[in-house]
Amino acid sequence: PAKSTNSTVISKVRVIIRLRPFLPHDIAANNENQIPCVSILPKDDVLCYTDSEVSVHLKDPETSRQEFYKLDGFYEQEDYNIARIYEKEVKPLIPGIFNGCNATVFAYGATGSGKTYTMQGTDVQPGLMPLAMSTVLSMCQATGNIAEISYYEVYLDRCYDLLEFKAKEIAVLDDKEGHVNLRGLSRVLVTSMSEFHDVFSRGIRRRKVAHTGLNDVSSRSHGVLVLTVSKPDQRLKARIIGKLNLIDLAGNEDNRRSGNEGIRLQESAKINQSLFALSNVIYALNNNKAWVPYRETKLTRILQDSLGGTSRALMIACLNPADYQEAVHTVSLAARSR
Ligand code: ADP
Ligand code: MG
Repeated sequence: PAKSTNSTVISKVRVIIRLRPFLPHDIAANNENQIPCVSILPKDDVLCYTDSEVSVHLKDPETSRQEFYKLDGFYEQEDYNIARIYEKEVKPLIPGIFNGCNATVFAYGATGSGKTYTMQGTDVQPGLMPLAMSTVLSMCQATGNIAEISYYEVYLDRCYDLLEFKAKEIAVLDDKEGHVNLRGLSRVLVTSMSEFHDVFSRGIRRRKVAHTGLNDVSSRSHGVLVLTVSKPDQRLKARIIGKLNLIDLAGNEDNRRSGNEGIRLQESAKINQSLFALSNVIYALNNNKAWVPYRETKLTRILQDSLGGTSRALMIACLNPADYQEAVHTVSLAARSR
C-alpha cells in the first residue's frame, strides 16, 4: 500500500486481464490454430498469478508485431470458471465494505470481449455481480446489516435509474461535505438471491428498451450496479456503512477502425472521454498525485467516493483472443493507468 499526502493508507487500483476463449465466429483462415494474440511471459510455469506483476505479451499472428506491458494479473482463457477471479480478486474486497471502505470493480474492453459475461454472467454461469451479492447477503445475515441495490446507467454523460419506471434521469450533485449525491437514485432492499435476480433482471430489461428509437445501447453505456450495506437503527432509518460498485463499462471501440458517424460518433466520443478520464484518475491515484481529476466526466464524478482514499478498486481488462489491434488498444490504456 502507498501513502497518500494526507497520510491515510491507500491501496493501488489493481489492473488484471481476463482473456475469453475463442468463439466459433472468431475463427478465420488466419487463426485456425486458435493461438491467442495475448499471453504472458512464463514465470515458474505458473500461468495465473496475482501477487506480483505479470508481463503481458501481445503478438500479431499476421505481421509478427509484438508489444509488452506490465499488469497485476492475468487469467487465461482456460480459466473458464469465473469463480477463480471472484475468489482471488473480488471477494477479498467485501469485508472492507462492512468496515466503511467502498470498493469498485470495472470490466473494461471492446464490445464482444466478455465484459457482460464477466460481470453479469449467464443463467448457468453467474458472473461477478451475483457472486458478490451472494457474499454480501451472507455477511449481512451474520452481522445484522441490510443490503440494498441500485442499478443505473451512464449514457452520453447522463445517468438513468434503471430500477425506476422508464429509466428516470437522475441529477448528480455535490453535497455539503463534497460527496457526490445521485439525487433520488432508488435503493431496493434485497434479502435473498431470488429477490436480487427479480430486481436486477427487471433493470437489465429496462436498460435494453430505455432509449426509444435507438438500438440497444447497453454496450454503449456504462452499467453500474451498487450494493449498499447499511446498519438499521431504532428509528428504522438505515445508516450506510459502505458500498461496492460493479461496473460493466461501455465498449472502448477504436474510432479509426470502426468508421463511426452521427450518433455513434457522439456516443463513442463520450465513451472514449470517460474511459480516458477514468484512466487518468486511476493513474493519479496509483502514482500519489496531489490532484485527482475526478470532475472531468460523470463516470469519474460518481466514483469520487469509491476510488481513492480508503477505497479499493479492481479493473478487469477483457480481451478477445483473436483481435490483436483491439487487444493493444485495451491493454495499453489499462497499463497506462497503473
Ligand atoms: P461484451 O459485454 O464485452 O460486449 P459479452 O460478455 O457479451 O461481451 O461476450 C461476447 C460473447 O462472448 C458472448 O456470446 C459471450 O457469451 C461470450 N463469452 C464471453 N466471455 C466468455 C467466456 N469466458 N467463456 C465463454 N464464452 C464467453
Ligand atoms: Mg456487454
